[in-house]
Amino acid sequence: MARIIIIGGDGFCGWPTALHLSAKGHDITIVDNLSRRAIDRELGADSLTPIADITTRCKAWREVSGRPITFHNLDIATDYEGLRMVLDGVEPDAIVHFGEQRAAPYSMRSPRAKRYTVDNNVSGTHNLLVAITELELDPHIVHLGTMGVYGYDGDGLELPEGYLEVFVKGHEGQMIPREILYPVNPGSVYHMTKCLDQLAFQYYAKNDGLRVTDLHQGIVWGTQTDETRQDDRLINRFDYDGDYGTVLNRFLMQAAVGHPLTVHGTGGQTRAFINIQDTVRCISMAIENPPKSGDGVRIRNQMTETHCIRDLAILVSKATGAKVQYVDNPRNEAAENGLTVSNKSFIDLGLDPITLENGLLDETLEISRKYADRVIMDCIPARSTWTPAQANKKDAA
Ligand code: NAD
Repeated sequence: MARIIIIGGDGFCGWPTALHLSAKGHDITIVDNLSRRAIDRELGADSLTPIADITTRCKAWREVSGRPITFHNLDIATDYEGLRMVLDGVEPDAIVHFGEQRAAPYSMRSPRAKRYTVDNNVSGTHNLLVAITELELDPHIVHLGTMGVYGYDGDGLELPEGYLEVFVKGHEGQMIPREILYPVNPGSVYHMTKCLDQLAFQYYAKNDGLRVTDLHQGIVWGTQTDETRQDDRLINRFDYDGDYGTVLNRFLMQAAVGHPLTVHGTGGQTRAFINIQDTVRCISMAIENPPKSGDGVRIRNQMTETHCIRDLAILVSKATGAKVQYVDNPRNEAAENGLTVSNKSFIDLGLDPITLENGLLDETLEISRKYADRVIMDCIPARSTWTPAQANKKDAA
């Protein structure tokens, strides 16, 4: 069994992943600076589900499973020495890196939030790569990237898994084949940091032979997994506020509290989705199938289906009777786009996707109803905008 460090293991994807890998018999160490909980306090928001503190979570898991999880409260972006000591002590076989500021709207809300997102995400990732090389360790690094690095202008083509084969005209007119990273096209400062991460991985894989898998993940929906269902103290985070709430979970929560389903613009944006249970399965599969040193960065598209936001709102509306409300789009993005994505590498590894039709939508709706009295209505609207003038005003406030 492997020694695995989960950076960001107190978060929405990290916590259920830590439990899933622990249940499979791996030795788990969580590294997290609890910044996500601090940002909730800054925004006056909270998880819809009552999440236990990390010490209680780890204790509950030990009682339920008999398996320990070690926790280090550590900021990987600012505490390089601390990070080095944890890596040196654990000598991990694999590191799953979730530990970044992950909300596009939050990254656009003010100059301070933009700078924080870049400093936190880029320095954190780079510190990790430097520490691994300094200590001459050889863990498989599994990083959570995003489908958003590709941008959403690929209508008519199937987005490949990270790389694109191109033919460049040589000086004698001959066509020379090259495999290049798919040209990045970030839609927010947050997405930009994931593009910068990609370059760091390419460099350290080439120069130091690091073994890296970068998972380009779709928007995650759902909340519970096989492990988090086992005890109330293990319940997973459920974000619904205007900055962190991911779209489908936000619609389900809005339906549960009798709020209209707020669709940005025409709702013609098509995005890639994945259920949280499939997220944890995919990460486990990625860990079990590392690239070899010298093979470059393995990129896998971690998504299972694509949907247009308007269609999702109509689906939830039909299931619940909630009204759909079209509001101004705070983002600077194409009003309508098509999206086709290859997820062949996970399907080839045996992923049997959970789709919206599999019934988990009902479970997420039930959770939304169960905790509806915890909703802070003022947090629901998306207030962060992509317009600089408005964001600057927020910092001054
Ligand atoms: P999250 O905010 O719930 O979890 C991230 C965790 O990392 C938090 O617990 C936070 O405290 C921790 N963290 C942040 N900066 C840190 C630092 N400098 N040092 C130590 N810990 C730090 O986010 P999530 O939804 O679980 O997402 C996890 C990863 O998956 C992110 O990198 C995100 O970009 C990616 N992702 C998420 C989604 C989604 O829909 N949730 C979609 C695509 C990609």
